[in-house]
Amino acid sequence: MLGINVWRRMLGVDRATVIESVDIDEETDAVVAQVRPRRDSKRRCGRCGVRAPLYDRGEGRRRWRGLDLGTVMCFLESDAPRVSCPEHGPIVAQVPWARHGAGHTREFDDQAAWLVTHTPKTAVSELMRIAWRTVGSIIARVVADGRAAHDPFDGLRRIGIDEISYKKGHRYLMVVVDHDTGRLVWAAPGRDKKTLRSFFDLLGTNRCRKVRLVSADAAEWIADVVRERCPGATVCTDGFHVVGWATDALDEVRRDVWNTARRQGMRTYAKEIKGCRYALWKNPEDLTERQEAKLAWISAANTRLYRAYLLKEQLRVAIGKEPHHGVRRAGAEDPQEPPGDRGSDAPQALQRAHRVHEHEDPRPAPDGLRVQEARAPRRPRPARSRRLLPPATRTGSGLMDPRMRQESRNCGAR
Ligand SMILES: [Zn+2]
Repeated sequence: MLGINVWRRMLGVDRATVIESVDIDEETDAVVAQVRPRRDSKRRCGRCGVRAPLYDRGEGRRRWRGLDLGTVMCFLESDAPRVSCPEHGPIVAQVPWARHGAGHTREFDDQAAWLVTHTPKTAVSELMRIAWRTVGSIIARVVADGRAAHDPFDGLRRIGIDEISYKKGHRYLMVVVDHDTGRLVWAAPGRDKKTLRSFFDLLGTNRCRKVRLVSADAAEWIADVVRERCPGATVCTDGFHVVGWATDALDEVRRDVWNTARRQGMRTYAKEIKGCRYALWKNPEDLTERQEAKLAWISAANTRLYRAYLLKEQLRVAIGKEPHHGVRRAGAEDPQEPPGDRGSDAPQALQRAHRVHEHEDPRPAPDGLRVQEARAPRRPRPARSRRLLPPATRTGSGLMDPRMRQESRNCGAR
């Protein structure tokens, strides 16, 4: 038989656990370790850990599932007596290898919970050989354990409130993030004042008073609840939504230009404008060669549309937000992005708006109101030469440019 220290490591138990013996259970074809808590960790309340007198033998010996040993299932078997806790009454005694009320060891719970954050619940259920529902109760246990050790609401000063839709937009989740840590601190189904109030109820009056900044979309009902519960907080609009509105406004201008061109019978021109949607949406640094060329064309062909684009880009850079083209879905009339032309190594044809940050003032003090969320690292791109575009040429009207006038003359529209 392997030494006891080897078994202790394989079973994932510490010195508070005494391993009496390890056998193969022929019936279940599993490794079963007979264990007991060491003397000083014996007879403690399963919930509060206070030492308590023995109440009874409980339901006798029982088993806890541990992590598999290779291909073989593994169980820890021990007595499960009850103690009489002054606070919790008769209760199953604490064991060092498992959480209270669990049928699995701590190591097993932790692994299943970790897996759930990386893979679907059904995959965890199959891999760990546990029921789908068991995965749920393991998550609940591990989360409760983590919450007891660390209060996610502690030190909340700058928070963001948002709504996420699921089930094709029929259901909503309200989520709260901590801007300082970038972590999700709370989420609940619903999208109304009652749901949001339940978050502030959990936060409690004292912690509500310490909140200094709340960012959200511009919904009045959110601002109402925040003002009611966090009198010391400044309510501000989430930059993500602001850039979203600017992108919508830009698209409105694009459609307007397109419709006018269509009405005036300038078919080629209208088609070009229609195909510019992605070039206008994307970050300048992410444009493909083709999209860069389109943008260059807009800058020469339509002052109004190009100005709208520059306004959107400047706003995005000023706020430090990504545009929301990744979030919104293209409509049926939108051309699909041609596959296979992303990330080409063409020379950059545009003065890149994102370089504006090089000339920005230094960031405000950390306790200032500016909320800078962590951004995904930019995709590294090979060094490339830059050709700067001339500024958009001014034309008589915002819509008409020389090329368009030519076309409209040909069409007899003007
Ligand atoms: Zn207790």
